[in-house]
Amino acid sequence: MGILIRLQKHKVFSMNDDVDNANDFMQHMINVGVKNAHDKIKKPSNQTGKCIWCETAVKDDRRWCSTECRNEFEKYAK
Ligand SMILES: [Zn+2]
Repeated sequence: MGILIRLQKHKVFSMNDDVDNANDFMQHMINVGVKNAHDKIKKPSNQTGKCIWCETAVKDDRRWCSTECRNEFEKYAK
């Protein structure tokens, strides 16, 4: 759900922006990238290739196959 909302925001953002605002858009993407980088620093990577919550195969070192799994995991991890 979180990813879907984020993608939709980007879509609206890019559609409403003209070329003059491309730098703002790039800055926005950089900010998002920095945030993602922070998340990666904060969270250890997963080398198993599986969602650590439901064990569905994942394509990279992400720990969950979906935000739902992440949310469930974090709910029970606390
Ligand atoms: Zn999962």
